Amino acid sequence: MKPPRFEYHRPSTRDEVTSLLAEHGDEAKILAGGQSLVPMLNFRLAHPGHLIDINHLEGESTEPEMNDRWVTFDPLVRHVGAERSAIVEEELPLLFEALRYVAHPAIRTRGTIVGSVAHSDPAAEIPAVLTALGGEMVARSARGQRTLHSDDCFVGPLVNGLEQDEWMEVVRFPRRGPGDGFAFEEFSRRSGDYALCGVAAVARPTPGGMSVSLAYLGVGVTPQSVEVSARPMAEYQHPSFLGELEHLVAAELKPYSDIHATGAYKLFLAVRLGTKAARRAVAMGVPG
Ligand SMILES: Cc1cc2nc3c(=O)[nH]c(=O)nc-3n(C[C@H](O)[C@H](O)[C@H](O)COP(=O)(O)OP(=O)(O)OC[C@H]3O[C@@H](n4cnc5c(N)ncnc54)[C@H](O)[C@@H]3O)c2cc1C
Repeated sequence: MKPPRFEYHRPSTRDEVTSLLAEHGDEAKILAGGQSLVPMLNFRLAHPGHLIDINHLEGESTEPEMNDRWVTFDPLVRHVGAERSAIVEEELPLLFEALRYVAHPAIRTRGTIVGSVAHSDPAAEIPAVLTALGGEMVARSARGQRTLHSDDCFVGPLVNGLEQDEWMEVVRFPRRGPGDGFAFEEFSRRSGDYALCGVAAVARPTPGGMSVSLAYLGVGVTPQSVEVSARPMAEYQHPSFLGELEHLVAAELKPYSDIHATGAYKLFLAVRLGTKAARRAVAMGVPG
């Protein structure tokens, strides 16, 4: 299968990308690592009239950067650049752990962190990590820049919160706070496959205990959040916690059945994986 016809653009500056989108936004697509877009073109699931290849932008950083609050990823930071980054290992242990579940090393060599967020696949790991941590993306168009919180980044399956003339300039994750703990768990049939269900957990200290934010992948049309209210650390390890999470998960998640698993089986996984992730995250944290 060959892709449909498109006009190819190869901008060398961010301003050129913005101008091209101002002109062709309603029928243009950005090409970053191409690990999702190129298969979609070849299967003719996408047929943009204009392809804007950002791989030749000049002076772009290929590694994550850090300021006093955020770890930031510019549009050409590949998964492999994040995986090998000491900043990510130290400041974003949740992303560091999740990255090894993203596809295979060859795909991670080309795929970008920003592309994974822009692609907005509800079965992908990085959108769930962004949601659990409460990260942000910066959208740019000829009208200027705006910031979207993770809650507004993911609108539906493969639909992000960008307008047609906008592109994603930066994705940023908050640096770890004192006492925070993290864990990522997922279940897939084979290593490197998309997971049937997965979960990113962030434990935060509260007076006398910890609260946990869970963000699930593979069980909804976008990453799905479940909040576990503050409690003493010992309660997470108690056998009754699994039953409590079962109630929370049943109230919040309505997993769909697909060719790989029934909704009921995904719910079963969500409870088991969520319990394991919450316990590991709490054990890594330091209570307030
Ligand atoms: C066999 C296989 C297995 C995979 N398994 C997994 C997996 O287990 N987990 C997982 O998370 N992913 C998986 N992927 C997808 C892979 O991680 C992709 O790399 C990633 O989803 C998209 O990143 P990319 O840079 O390649 O984006 P591209 O493919 O270039 O683009 C993807 C989409 O994002 C848009 N886009 C990209 N960058 C921008 C930008 N800066 N601004 C606005 N829009 C932008 C594009 O227009 C396109 O719509 C798999 C891919 C393959 C081929």
